[in-house]
Amino acid sequence: MLHYQGGCVPIRIFFTFAAMKTVDTLNFSGKRVLVRVDFNVPLDKKTLAITDDSRIKATVPTLKKILIGGGSCILMSHLGRPLKKLKEDGTVDYEKYSLKHTVQRTSELLGVPVHFASDCVGKDAYELSASLKPGEVLLLENLRFYKEEEKGDVTFAEKLSKLGDVYVNDAFGTAHRAHASTAVIAQFFPKAKCFGYVMAKEVANAEKVMKNCERPFTAILGGAKVSDKLLIIENLINIADNIIIGGGMAFTFMKAMNGKIGNSLCENDRLQLTRDLMEKAKAKGVNLLLPVDSKCGENFSNEAATQVTASNQIPDGWMALDIGPKAIDEYKKVLVTSKTILWNGPMGVFEMSNYEAGTKAIAETVAEATTHGSFSLIGGGDSAAAIYKFGFENKVSYVSTGGGALLEYFEGKELPGIKAVME
Ligand code: AMP
Repeated sequence: MLHYQGGCVPIRIFFTFAAMKTVDTLNFSGKRVLVRVDFNVPLDKKTLAITDDSRIKATVPTLKKILIGGGSCILMSHLGRPLKKLKEDGTVDYEKYSLKHTVQRTSELLGVPVHFASDCVGKDAYELSASLKPGEVLLLENLRFYKEEEKGDVTFAEKLSKLGDVYVNDAFGTAHRAHASTAVIAQFFPKAKCFGYVMAKEVANAEKVMKNCERPFTAILGGAKVSDKLLIIENLINIADNIIIGGGMAFTFMKAMNGKIGNSLCENDRLQLTRDLMEKAKAKGVNLLLPVDSKCGENFSNEAATQVTASNQIPDGWMALDIGPKAIDEYKKVLVTSKTILWNGPMGVFEMSNYEAGTKAIAETVAEATTHGSFSLIGGGDSAAAIYKFGFENKVSYVSTGGGALLEYFEGKELPGIKAVME
């Protein structure tokens, strides 16, 4: 196996943690602080109760810092995509997507009452924000009830800006979006804007991997589609020593090498691109690992008959739904000797008990490597869900709250939500 000599190859980084101004640097006394938070939490379909409050919990230290510093907080967030996911009759589901469902939990976590404005702009919101006293908290209704939010409308951003004296962005999950509340609004606070702790922590941890990684550095990439991960694989080929591939995306690679993949997931329009990636990895001496064997199901179901086969010999009609035991062993060996680990995407359909073994084994091994001193960063989304499902969230170095934003960071892209506050 070949490794790069020396440190990480310099790749495009648009900002650094050291240059980020956080809530530690501003005086909040008597100020109304408009905080962009990420309260996009999952809700129970029937009761609309929060099923995972980790995003709210994550931002509590930032909010407490402002409140203890004598400021008041006006919280703004989105929840889901209400204008894209309409009711059957074509109208907006204001009840399902209301942020009022998060008021009680936020109040419990902060230990203070949380007022709620049933519109994020307009008379009610302005009056409530104007009457806030130091130590008080106001939560605004879902920003995405307005199409102007996702469009990055300047007038809408200006209206929002009138609700506070200081702007704090603590929503890493939307940092890759140039929306009104995440990026455009920052221009109205030229001297009174900064980042919250979630933002700062996310960037600091991503930087540990991108800029200061200890070697060997192993990236584990899984999930359904290779098309979602092409750019990140391409960029990581410049810095990683090992890239472990799992999940449905492995089978586009298998087919690209003329393997028999049965009914496994495959993106036929990406075959050449995956061949190019394999060539690039080889040319750079990066060890790109594909699963040698797979656990296959007769159909996409936990009740279906299963068998383990070579990943390039999957019988007709069968589909690979998890990495197999030999692949697990091989991946484990690489992981236990890795000093830096980045994981994004499950190894199989971990939601079904028959196909969870690969993802579980990887989670366990990442935790074990961390116990022995490795740095491990778990990308949000499904890999974070898997880490929680198998109970290893406290045994890895950091679980990111922002799937899409983290991926774009690792793709080497500039994140508008960060750029706007840095400017
Ligand atoms: P992604 O959003 O691309 O990270 O994909 C995550 C999803 O990929 C999860 O819901 C998994 O169930 C699914 N997945 C992982 N491996 C496979 C596979 N071999 N075949 C089909 N789906 C898979």
